[in-house]
Parts: sequence; structure tokens; C-alpha cells
Amino acid sequence: MKPDGAYIHIDRASKKFATRSGEQVLALSEVNLSIDKGKFITLVGPSGCGKSTLLRIIGGLLSRSSGRVSIGGEEIDAPTDGVGMVFQSPVLLPWRTVLDNVTIAADLGRANRDLVNERALRFLKMVGLSGFENKYPGELSGGMQQRVGITRALVHDPDVLLMDEPFAALDALTRDRLQVELQALWMASQKTVIFVTHSIQEAVFLADRVVVLAPRPGRVVDDIAIDLPRPRTLEMVNSKVFGDYSNAVRRHFDAEETVQ
Ligand code: ADP
Ligand code: MG
Repeated sequence: MKPDGAYIHIDRASKKFATRSGEQVLALSEVNLSIDKGKFITLVGPSGCGKSTLLRIIGGLLSRSSGRVSIGGEEIDAPTDGVGMVFQSPVLLPWRTVLDNVTIAADLGRANRDLVNERALRFLKMVGLSGFENKYPGELSGGMQQRVGITRALVHDPDVLLMDEPFAALDALTRDRLQVELQALWMASQKTVIFVTHSIQEAVFLADRVVVLAPRPGRVVDDIAIDLPRPRTLEMVNSKVFGDYSNAVRRHFDAEETVQ
């Protein structure tokens, strides 16, 4: 572990993509970020600023062009079991039940099936899906499907949860509820979470720190500590201090790049 004691270290991470026309896109430029264990970080910024690229690099799903990334002192170069990912669309297999979708990695030989089943049932209960274990994805609402995706990531008890706009496709009421539920889950589990969103409200509501990214090239332009008590409630969203935090994030985006 590095001297500052942080758990996740991102040290001058850059990513260049080659486009089909042969040009190079600098998707991320020299990103530095240190994250303490157990913290909830949100990454916010307009579409195309490199949020998913950064998250996939942290998760070991994408190689970086330069720089270093480490979690708990281990250099990240490939996906590891200690890191769970949740995507915008949960990509459930329609022919498998909820339980079988959640435990899919056990079938791929990566874990003990009984243990995983037991944990799956416990987490499905925590996210309010008790009684739906034997249903198929097509029988669930979008919010319920997303809960299945979150459970699938939690079932292997990763220390780190990387979430890429997991609630973006949901209606506003479901999204509000899931934000509150995710906060409760995180408070109970002490995981380190990096959560990508383009919603300023969602970013402020969930975060200990909001990290603001700007595009062309993707880079960190601000890092705002959110000093609101927990558990946060939806009523807090209307408070002056919440508005002040939202404005501190919003001022980074001009009208053309306005995020929600
Ligand atoms: P965000 O998640 O913030 O919307 P992304 O990380 O998806 O942004 O993309 C950042 C930039 O990198 C964009 O300009 C995007 O077009 C480019 N990009 C992402 N993935 C690829 C890829 N596989 N090939 C080429 N360019 C890419
Ligand atoms: Mg993205």
C-alpha cells in the first residue's frame, strides 16, 4: 500500500483509442485519483468524457495506454474476483431464473455452488427480491432486473463495486428508491464503491466525494467532498446545502454540455 494509505490508486492513467478512420482519441489524460477503503465515490461528467473508460480500466476490463492502477497494493491488469461490476443494462440471460442468473459465475467453475446459492438468497432478500428467485427476467420490471444485476455483482463479496450508470435507464421513482437502497446496502457492507452517473443529483446524493470529469481529453477537473449526514434521505435533496453542492458540480458544465 502507498504511504498515503489509500486503497485504490490511479496514477497518471491515460487511454488512447484508435478510431476506424485511423485517428487517435485521447479518452483519458493523466488521471490521478486516490480512494480510501470503504468510501463511496461518484464520477460525474457529460457523455463521452471517459467515465466508462476509467471504470473499465479500474476493473481490469480495458488496458490503459499509460499510468498505473492498483487496488490494495495489487496492480490491476485483468479482472479480479475482488472487484464486482454493475452495468447500465444488467444483461441477464432470459432462459435462466433470477437465482441462476445471480449464481452464474459458480456454474463457470469459479466458486462453491452451495455457498454461492446461500449468499444469493440472502442478497436477493436484501434487495427486496425474496419470492422472485425462480422467476425469469422477462417477468420482472426494469428496476427488479437491475437489482438482479447488483445482486450478481455482490454475491462473490467483492471489496470493490464498480457501477456504470446502473440506474440511468430507470424511471425517476424507481431510481430514487434504488439510490436509497444502495446507500443502505453500502452502509451495511462497507464496500468501496465507484459509481458513474451523469445525474448531478444522483452524484451528490450517494457520494462521500464527487469526482467531476470533463471531456476532450477526459480528465478530472474537480473533487468535491460531500459532507452530508448519513443515511441521506430524499428530503435532503431539497435542502439549501444539497443545492449548494449540486451547483458546485454544475458550474463545470456549460449549457451545451449540461448534464441532468
Ligand atoms: P462516457 O462513459 O463518459 O460517456 P466513454 O468512456 O464511453 O465516455 O468514452 C470516452 C471517449 O472515448 C469517447 O470519445 C468515445 O467515443 C471514445 N471511445 C470509447 N470507447 C472507444 C473504443 N472502443 N474505440 C474508440 N473510441 C472509443
Ligand atoms: Mg459511459
